[in-house]
Amino acid sequence: MRQRIFGNTNVEVPVIGQGTWYIDRADRKSAVAALRRGIDLGMTHIDTAEMYGDAEPVVAEAIAGRREDVFLVSKVLPSNASRRGTITACERSLARLKTDRLDCYLLHWRGSYPLADTVAAFEELVDAGKIRSWGVSNFDADDLDELKAVAGNGKIVCNQVLYHLQERAIEHAVIPWCKQHGVAVVAYSPFGHNDFPSPRSQAGQVLQTIADAHGASPRQVALGFLTRDPQVFAIPKASTSEHAADNAAAGQLTLNENELALLDQAFPRGPKPRGLPML
Ligand code: NAP
Repeated sequence: MRQRIFGNTNVEVPVIGQGTWYIDRADRKSAVAALRRGIDLGMTHIDTAEMYGDAEPVVAEAIAGRREDVFLVSKVLPSNASRRGTITACERSLARLKTDRLDCYLLHWRGSYPLADTVAAFEELVDAGKIRSWGVSNFDADDLDELKAVAGNGKIVCNQVLYHLQERAIEHAVIPWCKQHGVAVVAYSPFGHNDFPSPRSQAGQVLQTIADAHGASPRQVALGFLTRDPQVFAIPKASTSEHAADNAAAGQLTLNENELALLDQAFPRGPKPRGLPML
């Protein structure tokens, strides 16, 4: 599994991690086994959120006895992201995750509380040792400008955003902004949530041909394309061990320039949309 320095931290994080949205809807044993298999195979970045129903307790079960191996991320809902609300939301997440700290804590999306209040709470949590770093999710470049003005240099560790073959909007402004400021980009829904390109489509066939050339799966090729930029990480969600193992193998795959160009053509970036797409 390839590792990269995560944003402005000095921590190495695997290029491919594990999402957990809706993982609580799967058979519990299978979900826990999938996350554990993923950790065994190097997908130690685990992403969860207070919003994800019972995902945090599922993660707690999966990381029991191996907390040191994991880069654990959770998120505060915007409706809780006041100065005090952020602290109590974090403490609830820590209790549900059965741990004493998060490696990174994110504002799930921008809400109505002033960014300064959420940032002050994040800094208090860092000082208390309850989180090691903090970042945001679903922030466009102009939101990041505002946040940086509030937080100062070197504080925002990551921006978790929608990014898959059929949704490349972040390439216009978000990735360049994050590169310039040393912020990790974490690609969520890297398989399009439930809309992975069909092998019957023309673009899906391009994917399949490249996969065949590597003895890989189309999803591995998709992850390889999304993480071609050294700033980017991806967090596919899998609720079976087979899927987790398939995704982890993408951490070894490198696509050549010609393959990247074919994928760029098959799944064009498109024009810059007015707002940042999100799920
Ligand atoms: P996703 O990772 O794009 O796709 C998940 C789907 O792909 C599931 O149906 C899963 O099936 C299937 N799958 C996974 N690996 C597979 C494989 N190797 N072969 C075949 N099918 C496979 O969708 P996502 O859950 O929306 O996104 C990933 C994570 O990003 C989330 O879980 C969450 O942690 C994060 N996220 C964050 C935000 C945000 O606002 N910050 C929003 C959305 C998502 P099984 O479950 O059956 O394995």
